[in-house]
Amino acid sequence: MPTLETTVIINASAQLVWSALDDLERYPEWNEIIPDLKGCTIVGERVSGTLKQDNTPDIPINPVLTRIVGARELRWLSEAPGGVFSAEHIFILEPTEDGTTRLLHNEVFGGPVADERWPNIDRNTRAAYEKFNRLLKARAEELGREALLLHPATGKDASSKIACSLLRCRCQRDPVEVTVSGPTYHNHLCGCSKCWKPEGSLFAQVAVTPAGSVEEKQNVEKLSIVDAMQKIERYACRECGAHIVGRVTDKEHHFYGLEFIHPELADNGAQPPIEFAAFASSLVESGTSPSSMHAIRRQLRGLSIPAYDAFSPELMDVIAWHRVKLAQSIPTIADSKN
Ligand SMILES: [Zn+2]
Ligand SMILES: [Zn+2]
Repeated sequence: MPTLETTVIINASAQLVWSALDDLERYPEWNEIIPDLKGCTIVGERVSGTLKQDNTPDIPINPVLTRIVGARELRWLSEAPGGVFSAEHIFILEPTEDGTTRLLHNEVFGGPVADERWPNIDRNTRAAYEKFNRLLKARAEELGREALLLHPATGKDASSKIACSLLRCRCQRDPVEVTVSGPTYHNHLCGCSKCWKPEGSLFAQVAVTPAGSVEEKQNVEKLSIVDAMQKIERYACRECGAHIVGRVTDKEHHFYGLEFIHPELADNGAQPPIEFAAFASSLVESGTSPSSMHAIRRQLRGLSIPAYDAFSPELMDVIAWHRVKLAQSIPTIADSKN
């Protein structure tokens, strides 16, 4: 069967190349060959658009997605009725040892019409796919250089482990004030959708202090719980939205005995070191383009902040052990509640 084979080395991770390839909505920003491809990239679904190549009229395409292996392989199949023509479009992303990606961009043709069209395909479609490869390479490499605001605290020098004595909300008038008598631990960035983030910042910054450390002082009537269904009850200022303290009242919860604070609200600007970034991939769920994740992780690496898609391994181990502890001592805890 006539097969068109093209390839390119892209100086970007397979995840990054994939994020551009799998984001049809943003094709008009870079993809001149199939700029208007629309649909949902799920196996079995159809996508539709227009193939644009030199010396050939625009060709409407409406293929069905036949194979999707995230960050590795994408295939779609176009078929004409009666078996006169078929074209299986294949993208294979091979991560190389040096961190680049080898893209194999092929198409396998079948049917008598394909044989007739082959000279045109071999010349014009080949040229179009080679251009597609150059554009995708430029796109992915550009996305890899993107600079994003992770959190204002990432640009500051850490000053002290025990940083926060007074936290103040963002209100210009009558700010909520609480004092923190305990030490702060596990200061980290959080990408989850629940933690409070300063405007324009991708991550929240959160730390814990032993329960009972946070004492409400001024204008605390402005505080209310953001979401009473959450195990961590986050108290926020109703005016400026800043979260002042998160409390855990469920004795069985793995974070019982802790209070959550945002060190950036410290009135003295003291900044504990950021130990890790939690729930980085959750950024995608709250609207960050998957194409930005490579740059975000690269920036975190540059700041020596390890990124996880959960809590840090030490906290995950603590949580796992807490579950075991709980399972072994349920009667004791039940007794103590009575
Ligand atoms: Zn406020
Ligand atoms: Zn969070």
